[in-house]
Amino acid sequence: MSPALTADRAEARDIFRELIEINTTDTPKGSVTAGTVAMQKRFLNAGFPPEDVHLLGPDPNKQNLVVRMRAAAPTTKKPVLFLCHMDVVEALPSDWHTNPFEFVEKDGFFYGRGTQDMKESDAAMVATFLRLHREGYKPKRDLILALTADEESGKFNGAQWLVKEHRDLVDAAYVINLDAGGIELDNGRTVVADVEATEKVYADYQVTATNPGGHSSRPRSDNAIYELTTALNKLAAYSFPFELNEVTRTYFRNLVGQETGQTAQDINAILANPPDMAAAARLSAEPSFNSNFRTTCVATRLIAGHANNALAQTAQANVNCRIFPGHSPEEIRGELISVFGDSKLSVKYVSDAGGVFDVAPERKAIVPPAPLKEVFDPLTRITQQIWPGVPVTPVMENGASDSIYFAQAGIPCYGYSAIALERDDDRAHGQDERLPVDSYWKSLDFFYSFTKALGGE
Ligand SMILES: [Zn+2]
Repeated sequence: MSPALTADRAEARDIFRELIEINTTDTPKGSVTAGTVAMQKRFLNAGFPPEDVHLLGPDPNKQNLVVRMRAAAPTTKKPVLFLCHMDVVEALPSDWHTNPFEFVEKDGFFYGRGTQDMKESDAAMVATFLRLHREGYKPKRDLILALTADEESGKFNGAQWLVKEHRDLVDAAYVINLDAGGIELDNGRTVVADVEATEKVYADYQVTATNPGGHSSRPRSDNAIYELTTALNKLAAYSFPFELNEVTRTYFRNLVGQETGQTAQDINAILANPPDMAAAARLSAEPSFNSNFRTTCVATRLIAGHANNALAQTAQANVNCRIFPGHSPEEIRGELISVFGDSKLSVKYVSDAGGVFDVAPERKAIVPPAPLKEVFDPLTRITQQIWPGVPVTPVMENGASDSIYFAQAGIPCYGYSAIALERDDDRAHGQDERLPVDSYWKSLDFFYSFTKALGGE
């Protein structure tokens, strides 16, 4: 350890080390509870009142920790919740050059499973709460930190469970989810700071064609494989309707200054009222734009037939959809059925846990309002103090995080880690996961100031 570390940084480093060295994978060796109990101990030792430090969850191995820093005086202002997941993806030591469950500092990086996703942020928030408490900081509204289980995998998703079973503990004006967003670097140059302000909904569908089958020497006019592939080809040719919401509109407005030529013209044209559909079609050729414009559905797996010399009795595909906010999985199931246009096909919903259902959930992600000024003003100001000149923009994530459970409960979520990473050094879930040491210190600086700004100074 560098002798020059301040006491605050030394503590933050030690918390990070402790968390990396606790295996919180969803495996027999892993325990989220070991991690949350270690953090609970730190809060209690620091003098947080036990009634504000809650360890709870539906499974003994998947306990969540919810810590509340109380407002100095009673207030009608709702709390701010900081959301962090404690679980990590499994790491095979044989794939790594260091032990993934040992915290190693080497060549300006911290190595270990979870250094990017997301023990760096768990540690930064724990360190921030402890530091503010030590300094006698009293917020003007309650600040809550939730360290949760099963974001990556497992049946006991902590964010979902807390919203459903203990809404009182996690109810907030809005959520800052540190599991998303951040600063993109290109060879050390800061390119952009992304803040996730809404996200698509993930849904899988099982599409099945069935047939009595028979001997392949006597083909019939009806055939399960042809029926399924005909339907999938219709899907391949189909585009869901073009849409913008307040978040993607702001994103494209911010992007237009960085683009040139036809792309810049086309972006301006889709922002016009009404949007120019020819421009939207041209931009949609770029997959990242396309997925920002609409719900997307794509076949990802196929199984069919049972013998080389038999007519298939079953042909089945998985269709994976990323649903634009404002639409429900059931609405998209209906749309798939009409795109396929074949009443003999069955289209069922597949849940995250793998269950297959005739009907999909009706619940839709809320259409995001314009990003809250109360969040974006300090976020932008503090980001630009630390990374001068970097543009800050709200984005719609095409992936999915635990924000969705809060968004569905009507609580706006903003995903921002304040972690600066090289664009080509994303090692989350991969081997030799690592974080630049300097990025860790900067995220600490950011969350120290940002937490105070949101809590009121
Ligand atoms: Zn994550």
